[in-house]
Amino acid sequence: MTTTEPRARLVLGNWKMHGTLAENAALLDALRTADAAAHCQFGVCVPFPYLAQTQQLLEGSTVAWGAQDVSKHEKGAYTGEVSAPMLKEFGCRWALVGHSERRTLHGETDQLVADKAAAALASGLTPVVCVGESLDEREGGNTLGVIQRQLAPVLALGADALGRMVLAYEPVWAIGTGRTATPEQAQEVHGAIRVALQGLGVDHVQVLYGGSVKAANAATLFAMPDIDGALVGGASLVAEEFLRIAAA
Ligand code: PEP
Repeated sequence: MTTTEPRARLVLGNWKMHGTLAENAALLDALRTADAAAHCQFGVCVPFPYLAQTQQLLEGSTVAWGAQDVSKHEKGAYTGEVSAPMLKEFGCRWALVGHSERRTLHGETDQLVADKAAAALASGLTPVVCVGESLDEREGGNTLGVIQRQLAPVLALGADALGRMVLAYEPVWAIGTGRTATPEQAQEVHGAIRVALQGLGVDHVQVLYGGSVKAANAATLFAMPDIDGALVGGASLVAEEFLRIAAA
C-alpha cells in the first residue's frame, strides 16, 4: 500500500563495533565530501566513544549521525548505560533501538525496546526501531506474527510517537550473512507494517530494510512501494559501496 505524499528516502549506516580514530576520519571525510545527501537523507550510527569525533567531522555537512543504542533511563545509577540527553549533546539525530544483536545477545525484550524508543523521543531523538524474524521463525511460517509481537508495545506508544520514529525491518537471517531478503519477501513485511501504521492513522513513517544491503541489490529493494531506504551494516564501512547504495 502506498501513500499520496512520497516519503523521504533514508540510508543509514550501522558501524556496529567497528572503527578506529584513523579509520573513522578517512571514512567520514569521504562521506562528507561526496554529498550523498543530495540523493536521500543520509547518516551513520557510530559506537558511543566516536560520537565526539563524528560530531566534529560532520558538523555543518549534510551527513547526520546517531548512536546504536540508548538507555531507557534519563540519568542515575545505571553503570555502562548512555542516556538520550547525553546523545543529544553530541548532536545525534537517531538512536537505533532493538537491533537484533541487542535483542539476542543482550536479552532486550519487546517492551524494553519500546521503552528505549520512548526515551529517545522524549529527548528529541528519532528512534530507529528494528524488528525482524529469525530463520526458524520464517521457516515456521511465523514471520508476520513475530513482527506483530515485536511491534505491539511500540504501536502502543500511540500515533504521535509513531509519527516521530523510523522503523527498520531486518530479518535476522539476512544480517551480516550475505543473504538478502528478496524484494518481494521484504515488501510483504513492509506492507504489513504499513497497514498496521495506517490502522492507527499514521501514514508517513519511514520503514527501512536492513540485511546484507549492497550497491548491487539496493535499487531493486528501493523499487518496492513500502521500502523507504536501508539500514546498512557491513557495507557502510566502505565509503564507495555505501555511497553507491545512497545513489541507488
Ligand atoms: C545491520 O547491522 O543492521 C545490518 C543490516 O547489517 P548488514 O548490512 O551487514 O547485514
